Amino acid sequence: MKKCSGCGVEAGQSHEEGCYAERCPACGCQMLSCDCSVEEIKKYKRIPWTGELPGIKECRRYNLWSKLTNEGWVPCDKYDSGARENLNRLYTECDWNPKTQRMELRTLLARKKLEKEVTEFVNSDEAKLDLLIYGTVIIRTDTKGHFKRISPVDVFVKTASI
Ligand SMILES: [Zn+2]
Ligand SMILES: [Zn+2]
Repeated sequence: MKKCSGCGVEAGQSHEEGCYAERCPACGCQMLSCDCSVEEIKKYKRIPWTGELPGIKECRRYNLWSKLTNEGWVPCDKYDSGARENLNRLYTECDWNPKTQRMELRTLLARKKLEKEVTEFVNSDEAKLDLLIYGTVIIRTDTKGHFKRISPVDVFVKTASI
């Protein structure tokens, strides 16, 4: 099992304070960049390092793969060459269930609706400005339907792929 690339703890252990790889148990997103209050987070147990970045396993469970093409990262099949687990797809196609502490795949209808919202948002002036200034992509990161910037925890999150 690999040690946490952020804080160096072994699998099964709690992250060090402020580790970029810690997942927030209240919203399922990166703890460092989520908007949850301390009170909200304290309702749940902290999620220890599992040996992999949060979400990677769920991408495999839900078959959320993407590959890099000339048009950027596009959804693809697991067996396509260059297929990687795609965290953008996870956070745009799933919702966090704090009770089960798991990302749950949305229904097709709900997904279509959100894809439209995300596309509109990514094309908005606000998103364009963020891209210009921060060079990172804005994705939906919380259960209240808010969009926000997330720091690029790895190569997958640097490119928008919806
Ligand atoms: Zn860590
Ligand atoms: Zn949170």
